[in-house]
Amino acid sequence: MAERPAAVLDHIERVPLPWREGEPGLTECGKPVAAVSAFLSHDEAREKFKAQGQQRAAMSTCMTCASAADRRWSASWAASPHQVVARWLNEGGRPWGHPPSGDGRIDRELRAIALLVEAHRPEFDGLMAGFGAAPSLAVRRAAKGARARGPRLFEGGARFDVPEGGGNA
Ligand SMILES: [Zn+2]
Repeated sequence: MAERPAAVLDHIERVPLPWREGEPGLTECGKPVAAVSAFLSHDEAREKFKAQGQQRAAMSTCMTCASAADRRWSASWAASPHQVVARWLNEGGRPWGHPPSGDGRIDRELRAIALLVEAHRPEFDGLMAGFGAAPSLAVRRAAKGARARGPRLFEGGARFDVPEGGGNA
């Protein structure tokens, strides 16, 4: 059997947390994007799988990235901040039964966010009231965008859809 030639693998960039904007990104498989030879956004990866077909695209795509991107973590911030944060909370793949240490970067960020909210309570409450008053348009637009982006990378996977009203409010 002929050996498969070593091809350049496309990794897929994780949807970044908005407050980390401007920082070098990470791939879904956990590498700095600067350290890999090629990477795609989630949308670009979807386009690639659509254009090349599942089997051909899979040969030149990092499968760890592809399977992570294919699951619930594929949402954009606009479609679901919940899903994007959940992806980062699961970073590192801790073994079962080992709780997070409590002093990780995301812990420090959440502490900082809580302190910022405390320092700007009226603004926070005003923003929340605004989101509560008219959530449907923004959420529906984001959900429509997510659906319009086309089929999932792999057939047979459950599609990710933003529930009407954005889920748990
Ligand atoms: Zn990868």
